[in-house]
Amino acid sequence: MALFDLKDFDNHEQVVFCSDDESGLKAIIAVHSTKLGPAVGGCRMWDYASDEDAITDVLRLSKGMTYKNAMAGLTMGGGKSVIIGDAKKIKSDALFKAFGRALNGLGGRYVSAEDVNITTGDIAVVNTETDFVTGTEGKSGNPAPFTALGTFLGIKAAVKHKLKSDDLSGLTVAVQGLGSVGLYLCEHLHNAGAKLVVTDLNQEALDKVQTQFGAKIVGLNEIYDQDADIYAPCALGATINDGTIDRIKAKIVAGCANNQLAEPRHDQALVERGILYAPDYVINAGGIINVSFEENYCVDQATAKVEEIYNTLLDVFEKADSTGKPTGEVADEMAREIIAKGGK
Ligand code: NAD
Repeated sequence: MALFDLKDFDNHEQVVFCSDDESGLKAIIAVHSTKLGPAVGGCRMWDYASDEDAITDVLRLSKGMTYKNAMAGLTMGGGKSVIIGDAKKIKSDALFKAFGRALNGLGGRYVSAEDVNITTGDIAVVNTETDFVTGTEGKSGNPAPFTALGTFLGIKAAVKHKLKSDDLSGLTVAVQGLGSVGLYLCEHLHNAGAKLVVTDLNQEALDKVQTQFGAKIVGLNEIYDQDADIYAPCALGATINDGTIDRIKAKIVAGCANNQLAEPRHDQALVERGILYAPDYVINAGGIINVSFEENYCVDQATAKVEEIYNTLLDVFEKADSTGKPTGEVADEMAREIIAKGGK
């Protein structure tokens, strides 16, 4: 594999491959940019089909963090890490400690937090070996409720722009993924009067959302075909692809998942179908914004900053209208401008 030539490599400052025989740790840490500050981004644990898939994922996610942190107005660069393996089988204190020692080796150029399959408890174990973690219990804690709040406000901004309404009541939202973020998001949407159509692999989560919020449950592959006003991808990435794009009936795509577009060209493809896309790294920045308040944590300050996502997205939508460019491209340009200026 020609790592430097990969399209997702995009001038990463540093990519570190870590392994530890005793605990079985196999991890990749990607530091995309430290231009605005130390690279901050979560750690994902996933049973990748191949090492190439893991590399692609970590590179795309870490570049996304650079853009996300810039657009959120944070003095942080972008990075991400992945631990390779099945979370149900490989988790151990020894493994997270080994990962902590690997983080230490970067001397603070990268600071890790939670992402898919990594809990605050796991980060607490990493924290026994290194200070270069954030989102810890007793400080900013679990970022998921803040990611959900930002995503909810982002959905409201998209509804305001596309449907000219401040009211979600009666609208149907198709939520794909009822994990740490998806469940909180469903609660916000239900409280705002939205109807929910949901899917997940996890029956317990489905039962919960059906009982508590009256959600309709559909099969994993049926979520794209729903008569919904909003499609909210809240599981994994690349669900907007050649196989799904023509099936989406919703007028808005707005959810918390990272890297929702399989290819950059799907940004324009959504425009051609008359669908408003809330760029993933703008709408899902609530968690990282909360984490940025880790030291001297104040929930009110963090919440106020998360609420800025609403106006940032309106700004992106308006610029897209005035320039005729797709929203993802507009967000990328805005982020690059912020980075070039050295911060917001
Ligand atoms: P999670 O692991 O808690 O939840 C993911 C959920 O998706 C699980 O319930 C899982 O069963 C479900 N799922 C997996 N494959 C699915 C499929 N094919 N169809 C339907 N459901 C499926 O993860 P999370 O923390 O809730 O994160 C969700 C997404 O949001 C991820 O893409 C993550 O990178 C992104 N994100 C999370 C945060 C955060 O604060 N946790 C912040 C920013 C972005």
